[in-house]
Amino acid sequence: MAFMQKKLIGNAAIVILAFIPLALWVTTNPTSHLHEEMNNNLQRVGEYFATTALVLFSCAIVLSTRAPFLEPFFGGLDKMYMTHKRTALTGFTCILLHFAIIPKDDFFTPGSYMGLAAMLGMLVLIVLTLAPRLPIPFLRWPLSLPYHQWKLTHKFVGVFFIMGLLHSFNVEHLTQESAPLDLYTRGMAGVAAVIYVYQAFLSGFVRRKHAYTVEAVNRLNGTVAEVVLKPNAAKLKHHAGQFLFIHFPTEKKLSEPHPFTISSAPKEDTVRLSIKTSGDFTGHLHETLQPGTAARLEGPYGQLNYKHAGRKQIWVAGGIGVTPFLSWARDFESGSRHEIYFYYSVRTKEDALFWEELENAGKRFPFFKPKLFCSNTDGRLTVEKMAAGAGLLADVDVFMCGPLPMTMGLAQQFRAAGVPDSRLHFEEFNFR
Ligand SMILES: Cc1cc2nc3c(=O)[nH]c(=O)nc-3n(C[C@H](O)[C@H](O)[C@H](O)COP(=O)(O)OP(=O)(O)OC[C@H]3O[C@@H](n4cnc5c(N)ncnc54)[C@H](O)[C@@H]3O)c2cc1C
Repeated sequence: MAFMQKKLIGNAAIVILAFIPLALWVTTNPTSHLHEEMNNNLQRVGEYFATTALVLFSCAIVLSTRAPFLEPFFGGLDKMYMTHKRTALTGFTCILLHFAIIPKDDFFTPGSYMGLAAMLGMLVLIVLTLAPRLPIPFLRWPLSLPYHQWKLTHKFVGVFFIMGLLHSFNVEHLTQESAPLDLYTRGMAGVAAVIYVYQAFLSGFVRRKHAYTVEAVNRLNGTVAEVVLKPNAAKLKHHAGQFLFIHFPTEKKLSEPHPFTISSAPKEDTVRLSIKTSGDFTGHLHETLQPGTAARLEGPYGQLNYKHAGRKQIWVAGGIGVTPFLSWARDFESGSRHEIYFYYSVRTKEDALFWEELENAGKRFPFFKPKLFCSNTDGRLTVEKMAAGAGLLADVDVFMCGPLPMTMGLAQQFRAAGVPDSRLHFEEFNFR
């Protein structure tokens, strides 16, 4: 319960921070004695949106740092990135409103052009971010950049943010007539700008990484490789089900950090990752990675933990989404208070990697009841089919990891069957 409440604190804090400018506008009522013509409501409302945008973008920049100490307050890094995205989008809406409302008598000045350039730059980056989800296919295809290119373009967010901040120093405004408002908004934006510069240029050197070496690469089938890594010195400490970022500094095409769930149990000396080919990095890894290669691990991250949830649980894995559950199963100890119904959905039995191990876990630990679902023989996995095994759905906690259409579809069915959102838990293999 405490965990459930803690993960709401982060979002609540952002809402409060975003409303402070409104409170300061109302209580301090900034008024210009030099430029009487600015003391009008359009100017005030337009500037109000600009100050709120500065606060929201500052929060979005802080969230993008993937600072581990913030993670518990959002319920995991994936949720923190979601909040980052929502906060930035709300901030951008405020910028549009600022632009639409603010009087433009003095528009043709370098300060105004700088603000306009910052807004248009942000617009381009937002379109590139939302492109993969655009409903119009002929726009989606050319604008959906490969992840590493998108990540590169996304680094410019900070540049446009700093331009927006500089714009505020180059135009006349009422905000500067209220010291608390000015200090709060531009102070926060200044701190965020410093964090951005640190994040973009220095954090790569400062961020703590664990030095590991590839011990083995077990190619389990044509697309999945199990990478076994041994620590060079102190081993990374983690909870079952967490994930890390890995890169291989000596391999040019594998030098960008990518996230993967740790599929081994915390008590093991080595770290095991089960990696499915889905693009450049994973494809190259599958084809070329050799034992002896140096690896750098960053983390662990992730807040998904079945031990914090209720007694009766349903776990649903789709394909490579089995990895967090594998780690949990490898960490089982006798005498658990839980009753776990595990559904592993794959296309054919040959695709069910680690099934034998999971089946054996079911024999050793009676509280764990694994069931394999092969769509080519059993049809599509539905909540109706699961409910027959798990009995009543009342008081059940559901954990899901797998392809988005599958988990979203099942989540809808669980909701329709009366399982509340607070009991639906996801591990998404996607931050974007
Ligand atoms: C928390 C988490 C845990 C994951 N665990 C596993 C796992 O156990 N096994 C597994 O096979 N896959 C896992 N993934 C997915 C894996 O990270 C991607 O498949 C991989 O990064 C794809 O990279 P690519 O260059 O091969 O493919 P691309 O085609 O470049 O990327 C495919 C998609 O992967 C995501 N992605 C790519 N690069 C990155 C990056 N640097 N950082 C974040 N996301 C990225 C993007 O959503 C992208 O659209 C996990 C992802 C997340 C977020």
